[in-house]
Amino acid sequence: MSDKKYNMAEAPEGYVGEGFFATKLSSVVGLARANSMWPLPFATSCCGIEFMATMAATYDVARFGSERMSFSPRQADMLMVMGTISKKMAPILRQVYEQMAEPKWVIAVGACACSGGIFDTYSVLQGIDKVIPVDVYVPGCPPRPEQILDGVLRLQEIIKSESVNRRGTKEYDDLLNSYNINK
Ligand code: SF4
Repeated sequence: MSDKKYNMAEAPEGYVGEGFFATKLSSVVGLARANSMWPLPFATSCCGIEFMATMAATYDVARFGSERMSFSPRQADMLMVMGTISKKMAPILRQVYEQMAEPKWVIAVGACACSGGIFDTYSVLQGIDKVIPVDVYVPGCPPRPEQILDGVLRLQEIIKSESVNRRGTKEYDDLLNSYNINK
């Protein structure tokens, strides 16, 4: 038998008593969601290679429950945009985002996805947040796998603290409306 030690996800805050543990529903849902994000890699250039390294054995994103990649938007909840996005490609990215079911989150990986990077030209989108909302920005050209993992961990913190109902709030509606996106 292997003597390898496994780390368990930390329990949310709550009340412990003899034979019971009580906490908020949103904390339990947040814990489950945060540790089972299915990535959709929208990789267009060099940053995609760093993502491949992040998936591989050394960095092993499976440790955070995100090893199950999906190339179908309907079976993914974490859109990871990695690479230069041309203005021509922007509507496709937006369509992919719109096809994802709620709840969904977005990480902009690398300078190109965050801001257009070094390509300050007429043909390159100057940041994916011009067409879809972004939850986490990972800087770097390219970011190292550790940075990408840090982005995933930061997204986990956001998800854990998010209310179950956030997607039904006026604030969320206003955010989508500002992008002219229907729920
Ligand atoms: S941020 Fe740098 S490494 Fe990443 S896609 Fe753009 S040019 Fe390539």
